[in-house]
Amino acid sequence: MQRNRCWICTQAIDYNAPPNHPESFEPDHYYPVSTHPHLANDPANLRASHSKCNRSRGNQPAQQGVWIQAEEW
Ligand SMILES: [Zn+2]
Repeated sequence: MQRNRCWICTQAIDYNAPPNHPESFEPDHYYPVSTHPHLANDPANLRASHSKCNRSRGNQPAQQGVWIQAEEW
């Protein structure tokens, strides 16, 4: 996993923060596991995100249109 910025808020992630810290890294599933269980373990479905951003997003679809890919599932 590269040390990317948070794909939700585009801010830098503190990769040294302890687990569960709001600014710490958490892998976010681009396609929620609840609706795409077959992608749960697919690295291509993961995006770097803050713990706080990942949790505030929950299982909502991506809001930012720029992130919505053309491919249909
Ligand atoms: Zn964030």
